[in-house]
Amino acid sequence: MIRAILFDLDGTLVHYDYDTFVHAYLGAVARKVAHLVEPKRFVKQLLAATEAMIASLDHTRTNMEVFWEYFPNGLDVSMEVLTPILEEFYLQDFPRIQEVLQVAPVPAARGLVERLLTNGYEVVIATNPVFPAIAIEERMRWGGIDGLDYHLVTTYETSRFCKPNVEYYAEILESMGRMPEECIMIGNNTCEDLVAGDLGIKTYLVEDCLLDMGPFRREPDYRGSFDDLVRFLEEKCS
Ligand SMILES: [Mg+2]
Repeated sequence: MIRAILFDLDGTLVHYDYDTFVHAYLGAVARKVAHLVEPKRFVKQLLAATEAMIASLDHTRTNMEVFWEYFPNGLDVSMEVLTPILEEFYLQDFPRIQEVLQVAPVPAARGLVERLLTNGYEVVIATNPVFPAIAIEERMRWGGIDGLDYHLVTTYETSRFCKPNVEYYAEILESMGRMPEECIMIGNNTCEDLVAGDLGIKTYLVEDCLLDMGPFRREPDYRGSFDDLVRFLEEKCS
């Protein structure tokens, strides 16, 4: 019996082109620190630290701790200098990316989450925790699904693993005290989201913004458009 619904965020509950988002984000954050670090060098280091964070299987350290171990290397700027600038970036500059992307909420998304919560389901935002909470909350605001009573939102401050490592999903199950068969993972990425099935979690592939670029792939238990998903959950979880 399903008790918990895990939703991916980008391309699943909030629809926009992920590559355009990453491009706009990297450009904006590099501009913010351009007076301290040459932009190309900054972006290269940001991506390297993100890769290190994604690869880490060290259960004793949060993603944030892994990120900051790698990120300042060779930048000649300390974490103490960079942290307040990046905090200001996420408060002032990051929200403007919504205008570049012209993100509008998927009309049915908020109602879907609200109905699940009303019906007593635990709802998790299982977005890859490579961003601080403030950036994840902002993207939830773009999608009109902010301010709801989520059981858990995975962020880089609190998570110890990233997709597509199956440890990411094991950590969610452990923190919820749920068995895999009590959960369903809903996402648009045949690798990062569907790998949850390796633990026995049921999976649903939302195909509106389908990503199927590896490095490996799994078959979903269920698949369809976002509208199909809304009908599926209405039948299965009412
Ligand atoms: Mg996604």
